[in-house]
Amino acid sequence: MNVADSERLANALDRLGCEPEPVMERADIIVLNSCVVRQGAEDKVTGRLGSLKKLKREQPDKLISLMGCMVGPDNTDLETRFPQVDCFMRPQEFGPLIQLVEAQEGTCMDTSVPLVPSTPSVATFIPIIHGCDKFCTFCIIPYRRGRERSRPIEELVREAEMLAVRGVKEVTLLGQNVDSYGHDLPGEPDLADLLRVINEVGGIERIRFLTSHPNDMSERIIDAVAGLDKVCEFINLPVQAGDNGVLEAMRRGYTREQYLAKVDRIRAAMPESGLTTDIIVGFPGETEKAFEQTVDLVKRVRFDKIHIASYSVRPGTIASRKQPDDVPAEEKKRRNTTLEAIQNDISSEINGSYVGRTEEILVEGSKDGRWQGRTRSNKLVYLEGAGRFHGEIMDVVVEGATAFSLTGRAKEGSRVVLSQIG
Ligand code: SF4
Repeated sequence: MNVADSERLANALDRLGCEPEPVMERADIIVLNSCVVRQGAEDKVTGRLGSLKKLKREQPDKLISLMGCMVGPDNTDLETRFPQVDCFMRPQEFGPLIQLVEAQEGTCMDTSVPLVPSTPSVATFIPIIHGCDKFCTFCIIPYRRGRERSRPIEELVREAEMLAVRGVKEVTLLGQNVDSYGHDLPGEPDLADLLRVINEVGGIERIRFLTSHPNDMSERIIDAVAGLDKVCEFINLPVQAGDNGVLEAMRRGYTREQYLAKVDRIRAAMPESGLTTDIIVGFPGETEKAFEQTVDLVKRVRFDKIHIASYSVRPGTIASRKQPDDVPAEEKKRRNTTLEAIQNDISSEINGSYVGRTEEILVEGSKDGRWQGRTRSNKLVYLEGAGRFHGEIMDVVVEGATAFSLTGRAKEGSRVVLSQIG
C-alpha cells in the first residue's frame, strides 16, 4: 500500500513540475512515507526524522513532509516531537503537500485525472479499497487507515486502461482486505464483479489481488479467480495462528477448521494455485502447545511461502491494553526460527516439483545481469541465457529450484504475448 501511495504522490509532484532527486541533501521536497505495523518500521522513520532536523536547520527552505500510518487524525504530539516537519499527511491524503507546492509554484493541478504511477513498470498496483473494518486485537491499521472505503468500479477500470496505455501488463488490486471490496458502494458489487470488468481491459494480461481475509473470501470470488483467464491463480490468505484459543484472542473471527475448509475449497477449484500466508508467533498467551498447533497447520496446508512476524506490542491496539506481552523475546525468536526452517523445507520441496515443468512468466526486469519474472502462481523465476525479454509473457522450462526461487530457460518457440491495446 505504501509503495502504491508513494507512486501516486510522485505522479502528483511530477504534474506540478517537480523532478526526482535521489540525493536527499539536494532535494527541495523530502517525503517520508511511514509504516507502523511493527516497532522496527516505526523506529526507522523516527531515526530518519532525527537526521532531518539538522538538515532543516541548515536549509530551512526545504519542505519536509511525513505521510503514512504514523500520521493519525490528531497530530499535536507529532508536531511537538518533530517541529522540522512542514506537513503531515494521512495515508492517501496528499492534499496538504500538493497545496503547499501549488502555493509555492503558483500553479494548480488538474484533479480530474486520476493519479497513477508516472513511470510504471510492466507490473504495478491499483489500490481498490482503503482501511479495514476488522479490528484484530494486535493490529493498528483500522485506527490509522480508517474504516473501509471502496473506490468506484468505473474509476478503477479507467485507471487500469490508463496503465495499459503506458505499457503495464500486470496489475495487483490492493487493499487491507480486498475480499470485502464493494460493500459500501451503490449496488454492492464485490471483488468478483471487479475482477470480471478488469479482465476485459485490453492490454492488461494479468491480474492479482492482495490481501484476503478468510471470512470474506466467498465462493463467488474463488470461482471468479478460477474462471477468469487473466486472473492469476495465487492467493495470500493470512491465517495468523493455528490454534483456536489464539485465533479467538486475536479476534480473527474463524477457527482453524474453518480456515482449513477454505483452503480445501480453493484447492478444489484451483489445484495448481500458489497459496501463501501470514503468521504471528509469540502472541500473548500463546503456549508451546498452541504454537505446535500452528506448526501442525503449516505442515498440513503446505503453503508456498509464509511471512512470519514475532509479535510486538502496537500502542493503541486492543491487545496493548488487555493482553500482556507474556512470551519472552528469546522464545518468540525460537518459534520464528523453528517455523521458518519447517517452511523452508516445504518451499524447497514444492519448488523442486516445478523442475522440468513449462511455466508462463511475465518478465518484469533484470538483476545482476539475469532477467526475472513471476509464474502465474507467483514464483520468482530467474532466466538463464541471453535475450531481451523485458515486459514479455513467455513460456519457460524450469531447470532449477531453491526454497526461494526457480531458474529456467525460454522455451524453444516460446509464446510471446504482444499486448493489444484498445
Ligand atoms: S484484517 Fe488485517 S488489516 Fe484488518 S485489522 Fe485484521 S490484521 Fe489488521
